[in-house]
Amino acid sequence: MVLGTYKEALSARSTEQKILDVSQDGGIVSALLCYALDEGIIEGAVVAGTPDDDWRPVPTVVTSADEVIAAAGTKYSMSPTLSAIKEATRQYGLEKVGVVATPCQTQGLRKAQAYPFTRFVAEKIKLIVGIYCMENFPMASLDTFATAKLGFDSLQDATKMDIGKGKFWLTKDGEDSGLAIKETHGYEQAGCNICMDYVAEWSDVSTGSVGSPDGWSTVLTRTDAGADVFKGAVAAGLIETKPMDEVKPGLPLLEKLAKGKKDKNGKVREERVKMGLPIPPEY
Ligand SMILES: Cc1cc2nc3c(=O)[nH]c(=O)nc-3n(C[C@H](O)[C@H](O)[C@H](O)COP(=O)(O)OP(=O)(O)OC[C@H]3O[C@@H](n4cnc5c(N)ncnc54)[C@H](O)[C@@H]3O)c2cc1C
Ligand code: SF4
Repeated sequence: MVLGTYKEALSARSTEQKILDVSQDGGIVSALLCYALDEGIIEGAVVAGTPDDDWRPVPTVVTSADEVIAAAGTKYSMSPTLSAIKEATRQYGLEKVGVVATPCQTQGLRKAQAYPFTRFVAEKIKLIVGIYCMENFPMASLDTFATAKLGFDSLQDATKMDIGKGKFWLTKDGEDSGLAIKETHGYEQAGCNICMDYVAEWSDVSTGSVGSPDGWSTVLTRTDAGADVFKGAVAAGLIETKPMDEVKPGLPLLEKLAKGKKDKNGKVREERVKMGLPIPPEY
């Protein structure tokens, strides 16, 4: 299955305006974390904040709804999120931890849970909210897009960063500037070219914008833990949903992009094998 194993696919968004005001898409990640904190399903979570407001994602341990919301929004650079899990359990003493993770980070988390090396840490991860991911960029690439390609004085002038409708977007003073996505090729981090997972197939629940209308998110519940937290947040009135077959462009676009990533990056992997270069296993 090109989207991995999932129980249910829905289009959804947060019902809370304070989340929608700052979230990247439908605010599903923040809504789920806030609900899980409130219900004691998790005691805290590792998210990617930007403490210096410079778009550099910094792994951040959050234990309140206000902190979750302060870290909302996508930063299109690598967040060494997994490095903060030990901090969450050891320094914060959290017994039940949530993590917001890209597909590659989700794989790392599941490995840590499967192997005994990270005893007392990995077993405390109770909720993995996966975010879809086609590629990711070093901070230097983001600087180049902002300054050399879009004419900004500085990346820090941007108030929102997004990828959609074939472009990389930066918002400044309420105006969106778009860079054709083909112009960003070659600037992504190298490992993304051999990554086969678009939709965080190993998470408890994964979400992204593709498939749903603007301001909404496509949600795939995958495990009992993921389905329970999502259903609970819906029942609590924190998330509203629509059936996927009632929204455009719908699941076919998500499937097409997930397959496209596997096909394209599968070829790069084959080339690497032919050259005798190592590749990570495909999960
Ligand atoms: C590098 C990257 C590429 C992406 N590519 C796609 C794509 O091709 N298609 C698609 O549909 N969606 C993609 N997404 C996901 C999308 O941008 C949103 O993050 C997702 O839809 C969640 O939106 P939300 O409104 O529910 O989340 P929000 O409520 O806004 O919360 C976002 C959460 O993500 C965390 N976060 C932000 N940046 C990072 C990061 N770099 N690493 C880890 N966690 C982070 C924040 O801390 C926050 O907890 C990508 C995300 C990233 C980070
Ligand atoms: S494309 Fe793959 S390797 Fe690159 S950041 Fe996204 S999930 Fe990780």
